[in-house]
Amino acid sequence: MKTYHIATIPGDGIGKEVVPAGQQVLAALAAASNTFQFTFEDFDWGGDYYRKHGEMMPKNGLDALRNKDAILFGSAGDPDIADHITLWGLRLKICQGFDQYANVRPTRILPGIDGPLKRCKPEDLNWVIVRENSEGEYSGVGGRVHQGHPIEAATDVSMMTRVGVERILRYAFKLAQSRPRKLLTVITKSNAQRHAMVMWDEIALEVSRDFPDVKWDKELVDAATARMVNKPATLDTIVATNLHADILSDLAAALAGSLGIAPTGNIDPERRYPSMFEPIHGSAFDIMGKGLANPVGTFWSVVMLLEHLGEHEAAQRVMQAIESVTATPSLHTGDLGGKATTVEVTNAVCACLAADKERKAA
Ligand code: NAD
Ligand code: MN
Repeated sequence: MKTYHIATIPGDGIGKEVVPAGQQVLAALAAASNTFQFTFEDFDWGGDYYRKHGEMMPKNGLDALRNKDAILFGSAGDPDIADHITLWGLRLKICQGFDQYANVRPTRILPGIDGPLKRCKPEDLNWVIVRENSEGEYSGVGGRVHQGHPIEAATDVSMMTRVGVERILRYAFKLAQSRPRKLLTVITKSNAQRHAMVMWDEIALEVSRDFPDVKWDKELVDAATARMVNKPATLDTIVATNLHADILSDLAAALAGSLGIAPTGNIDPERRYPSMFEPIHGSAFDIMGKGLANPVGTFWSVVMLLEHLGEHEAAQRVMQAIESVTATPSLHTGDLGGKATTVEVTNAVCACLAADKERKAA
């Protein structure tokens, strides 16, 4: 029997509700399997840890994660601590520390979900957004001087490197090649940003020559928002910079029905380090602590985690369980217009997985 070692980091807000739910689903899956099992180690990093220790996670925290097979993460963000401290002190520390340079965000309209687009059939919206996750607008390069004086100045420099751009575009072309439509849209803004984004375009052209079977096009990021709304079926795999993809993927999640459903993988494609899986939503201050959070984004992230481990059949089982639950309106949480609680949705998904086992045994 194979054993996978999983780190769980609930973090803040509803992360503390959805990550235990995700762990429960993994445990239910393992209980129904005779080929693999999980060990879990939980890390109490985040806002509460910051209040006690003055930092979001310990200085040597990455060492405790290094030998794990994967990380399941919740959210970083606390009502009483500045967002740039929580984000940089925890989530980005892990993403950058483990060079998880590919942030992968699948979007589909799941069964039973009523998306906001009137003319969009569920089969019209099936995207994967690949977000550059290590540099660009979020490279952290910049500074602030003369604080509080009239001459105060601040910069956030968007830094792009040939290595960083080439590796994310190559990852995206490869992913597009593995999908049935073999279709890639490269998001750019090289009309206005005339240095780094021009290099981005040039490298896209160079990399494309290694993927002659992938159809690809280029779209300016502003036009891309309109295309996502008006012609969703013309898109399949999408690659964009750190900031552009951050924004486009929240739009994608909303178009697919709710921010509460959308998953992410922060992937180190070279597998030098563990990859980290998380729902795309944040701490959701307005509903935290009430048991109302939709756990589906975390469950779909669990599906991505299983795929990363090579457990494709198990991943498919969890996805089917998720879809049978979303197809049932009485199991919709508030973000989907329903009344179900986190616990009810979680129990329903776990019951599906347990039923799988009984069916197999019968
Ligand atoms: P948010 O995702 O926390 O919430 C936006 C809205 O969506 C809220 O109304 C919320 O109730 C709703 N929502 C989100 N997830 C939901 C779910 N699973 N079920 C039901 N409803 C859900 O975004 P925000 O309000 O911009 O940010 C709040 C905090 O979270 C901030 O501190 C922010 O920095 C942080 N944040 C962290 C991450 C991360 O760690 N990856 C991502 C985004 C935001
Ligand atoms: Mn975001």
